[in-house]
Amino acid sequence: MTSSVRPSKTVLISGASVAGPALALWLHRYGFVPTVVEKAPALRTGGYKVDLRGGAIEICARMGILDEVRARSTDMAGGSYVDSRGRTIGELPAEIFGGREEGDDEIMRGDLARILYERTRDDVEYLFGDSIARLDEDADGVTVTFDSGTVRRFDLVVGADGMHSHTRRLVFGDERRFRRHLGAYISIFSAPNRLGLTRWETYHALPHKLVCVYATAGERSDTAKNLFIFSAPDELPYAHHDTAAQKRLLAKAFAGDDWEIPALIADSADADDFYFDSVALIRMDRWSRGRVVLVGDAAHCASPASGQGTGLALTGAYVLAGELAAAGGAHERAFAAYEAVMRPGVEQNQRMAEGFVKELTVDTRWKIALRMFMVRTLPRTPWKNLIAKKIRDDIQKAANAVPLKEYGAYEAHRLAS
Ligand SMILES: Cc1cc2nc3c(=O)[nH]c(=O)nc-3n(C[C@H](O)[C@H](O)[C@H](O)COP(=O)(O)OP(=O)(O)OC[C@H]3O[C@@H](n4cnc5c(N)ncnc54)[C@H](O)[C@@H]3O)c2cc1C
Repeated sequence: MTSSVRPSKTVLISGASVAGPALALWLHRYGFVPTVVEKAPALRTGGYKVDLRGGAIEICARMGILDEVRARSTDMAGGSYVDSRGRTIGELPAEIFGGREEGDDEIMRGDLARILYERTRDDVEYLFGDSIARLDEDADGVTVTFDSGTVRRFDLVVGADGMHSHTRRLVFGDERRFRRHLGAYISIFSAPNRLGLTRWETYHALPHKLVCVYATAGERSDTAKNLFIFSAPDELPYAHHDTAAQKRLLAKAFAGDDWEIPALIADSADADDFYFDSVALIRMDRWSRGRVVLVGDAAHCASPASGQGTGLALTGAYVLAGELAAAGGAHERAFAAYEAVMRPGVEQNQRMAEGFVKELTVDTRWKIALRMFMVRTLPRTPWKNLIAKKIRDDIQKAANAVPLKEYGAYEAHRLAS
């Protein structure tokens, strides 16, 4: 691949969730011309509450969206574990559940996507309901053919289209080469607030399974989220676009279970934001090829087990745009620098996910009883702060693992056209 003769300026970004709009915000600030294409007909809502810690909070501040993020905080008060008859076994405050430090926050994924979209939509072209069909790269740029039939030229193309990245498949090949299933599945969707929760999460553990119902501060009082996790050592056969098949798999995994589970599962029938996916990592030797680069989950999904996927997506967007600006649009140099800055932190977070995934579910009733004993006694032990700190410290190290260079000097910079 030869170096570009002129600096790259126009950038097509595939995916309008977290990484895509965040990248667009920064690129626009540095004088690039980003366009975002999103397969869904409109901004996608749904998803679970996501943690923003350490570096991700700093990036929100530098993006100028921190006040909005704070205003949309889930503001959870805490949570409890219940037994099969719904009796409370123990309660824990939100700090212990979230592993958050002072200043960290939590927000619904859909709210964060909306904040980023609303912040960029006046400056950035968004193409909803379309997708990249074909990429033809030459020395000067990339000719992009869209599903709609439109053909356009861009200097660079960025895949910010998530764990099942279509851009990755077009440029690097089959997802299975890069995906590492961590042995569990997760599903979440909006549902009636059956438990009457307010800023609270209620858990019920079964062997190999965990169910959680929660309602955040921003939630309407009559709605909640139903969340299910179950272990499955092997990957389940289904197409990731096939929601009906996913609902069937979920129902099968929890068939005959106690507590409120039958009703909570039945709620999935009416959910228009149903989410179901494997808890998996994406691991690649490199994140760019020629004029195409990946960011966020598309490059390095760390899975829900890390609790860091959204933070890493924001960080990747910040670093990629910053390095492109620092290199004056010389993409080869920028992509190499982006990867050098991000990769050690990404690997640290992925290792953390491999450890945490083992804690998502518990395999026997005896171990569940032990865990419930700890939940019951922890708030009363004198070491509760020490234990909470130990959990926090490990997460905080991972949340601050990517060094945040100051790229602010490039904000006034306008690239030569
Ligand atoms: C609706 C939704 C719900 C989610 N819920 C959870 C959850 O409950 N738990 C969890 O751990 N993670 C969830 N995630 C993933 C989580 O958002 C990411 O781990 C993290 O925020 C990183 O974001 P990202 O922008 O890299 O990728 P993602 O958030 O996955 O976003 C990828 C975006 O690309 C779009 N896209 C996909 N294919 C194409 C294509 N061919 N052309 C154009 N656009 C395309 C998608 O529609 C999506 O908007 C969810 C993602 C979505 C989109």
